[in-house]
Amino acid sequence: MTEKPVSARCPVCGYHVAVPFFFGGAQPLATLGWPSSEAEARGMEKLPLDFVQCPSCTHVYNRSFSYGSVPYQENPNLMFNNGRFWKNHLAEIKRILSQVLTSDPTVIEVGCGEGHFIHDLAESIPKGRFIGFDPNARNKADQSIEFYPRLFKPFEDIATFAPDVLIVRHVLEHVTELAGLLEPLAWSASQQGKPCYLFAEVPCIDRIFETGRLSDFYYEHVSHFTSGSFQTLLQRMGEVKTIGHGYGDEVIYGLVRLDIPETMKSVASQASAFCRSAGISLETISRQLSDLHLSGLSVAIWGGTGKSAAFMHHFGVDAGRFPLVVDSDPAKAGTYVPGTGQKIEFRDVLKEKPVDVIIIPCHWRLRDIIAEMKSEGIAAGKVLIEQDGHLLEPG
Ligand SMILES: [Zn+2]
Repeated sequence: MTEKPVSARCPVCGYHVAVPFFFGGAQPLATLGWPSSEAEARGMEKLPLDFVQCPSCTHVYNRSFSYGSVPYQENPNLMFNNGRFWKNHLAEIKRILSQVLTSDPTVIEVGCGEGHFIHDLAESIPKGRFIGFDPNARNKADQSIEFYPRLFKPFEDIATFAPDVLIVRHVLEHVTELAGLLEPLAWSASQQGKPCYLFAEVPCIDRIFETGRLSDFYYEHVSHFTSGSFQTLLQRMGEVKTIGHGYGDEVIYGLVRLDIPETMKSVASQASAFCRSAGISLETISRQLSDLHLSGLSVAIWGGTGKSAAFMHHFGVDAGRFPLVVDSDPAKAGTYVPGTGQKIEFRDVLKEKPVDVIIIPCHWRLRDIIAEMKSEGIAAGKVLIEQDGHLLEPG
């Protein structure tokens, strides 16, 4: 039997239905609270553990998590692990990274903490440039790495530093907006004109399905990756080179060559072309309207709300130069055009006072309005519509 599904957005794949997974009630922070007395420890604020699973990509996440409830600024995330097996794991991921690290790479670690990992890498590649970002760590005096005590900004920082490799280790499980971090990162990296790789590593919860254990679930980890959800995430970032488990299958990591699909590049290029031509259209049609006003011809705009109002806003159809606005809908007569303020008249006004030019901004009603003009005996010297960046007579 399936528990009643809830509405929640999966931070990995964006699926909007989730199924209850583990309700842990309200609990205090487990790792970032640092209470300094027994009384403080007992009095800690309780926060909701409301874990759900995404049926699409299998990701598990706390749908009631609020980033503001975790005091990262005051209390850095100190991850202590000096054990032999952990060191073996680190050696393994350095070996994987060595496959893409050149002799003089630019490497960025996002959420580098105290910088131990990137420091070790820097020592092994003396000619490289190594940069760490972490808003919650203390400033590093270390000469081998550049350190920025702030959030990493994908669009700006990838353009500025032009990295060859980005490393994000034990960070993504804390991030509420995974797509907000990673999609701009993949996008920016794809614009560099050179390969750029992402190495990501997170705790993996696959083993909880074997062990049934619940101790993995605490407030600071909003996201819990299964192998399936981690793979889903990486596949959205580009070409996955390696995915592997480490540290007794307790972590999962992957190496991706960051890129975006050709279809997205094509949409982006078409959107940019539209954006440029829209700017030209604004200038061209505004100029045509000025010329029309200066020519002394009488003008009516047919339609006073919706698309017609938008037309007047875009092209500066002010009430001073273009006071006459008519509408087919008698219910709109007597109301005013939003923003520009012309009083909307019923179209019959054109029977008594014909105009030289009628502008019909609303394309989709054009044929009906022309037919209405004919049947009502409304004539004009010229009808103009917005077409291909100009005011033209309909073809
Ligand atoms: Zn999902």
